[in-house]
Amino acid sequence: MLKVDDINVWYGSIHAIKGISFEVYEGEIVTLIGANGAGKSTTLNTISGLLHSKTGSVTFQGKNLARIPPHKVVEQGLAQVPEGRRVFLQMTVKENLEMGAYTMPAGGVQADLDMVYGLFPRLKERYRQVAGTLSGGEQQMLAMGRALMSHPKLLMLDEPSMGLAPILVEQIFEIIRNLHQHGSTILLVEQNAQAALSIADRGYVLETGKIVTTGTGAELLSSPAIKKAYLGG
Ligand code: ATP
Repeated sequence: MLKVDDINVWYGSIHAIKGISFEVYEGEIVTLIGANGAGKSTTLNTISGLLHSKTGSVTFQGKNLARIPPHKVVEQGLAQVPEGRRVFLQMTVKENLEMGAYTMPAGGVQADLDMVYGLFPRLKERYRQVAGTLSGGEQQMLAMGRALMSHPKLLMLDEPSMGLAPILVEQIFEIIRNLHQHGSTILLVEQNAQAALSIADRGYVLETGKIVTTGTGAELLSSPAIKKAYLGG
């Protein structure tokens, strides 16, 4: 479904991504794990067209995304939930969700709202609440719900567990697992390697802009080197 082939991304003179290649197949959860600054967000932002690679290509369902502007990437079926759950703080829960449906025909929006409310009952209870007054976990649910309103073929999540209490992290990962069971394809970026590898079919480990290891979620979880570097021993 997604093929990232030899991308190199620079911020001015900083070479942040150094020749990364990986693939995501339909129906998989693939995770990119790595420490702060390894290049995880940069990789996602390159796929979604917010940043550009000097080399190589990003292909989504056979189409080269380099030729498609970021706002059109969503129409191709690729939705990103950015790091730090950027929701529209002044808008209500419902208005935020409606914004996520801007690429969809108007007639289906109510059914999609119901689908999101089914996944996140907390959002249904609070549909008239202004997003800026939601808790961090609720904002994360809203950011994910908004992305789902565009019926993405591939959902990219950038550190959905960041800053959340352990119980909410569990809930968010339960929802990701649930989406996966219903056929969603997910590219998950996480610092919480334990949680991410536990639900992922496959994972890639990033270190200073390069992929250093890859394997199934189970293989990486049981690898002594990964345990030492990312799982606290
Ligand atoms: P984190 O887990 O902390 O979010 P990350 O793996 O997502 O980290 P990136 O945000 O992709 O890492 O950053 C990769 C490298 O690029 C880092 O060294 C970072 O300092 C650098 N970088 C990121 N954004 C910029 C920018 N706008 N200008 C200059 N350097 C940047």
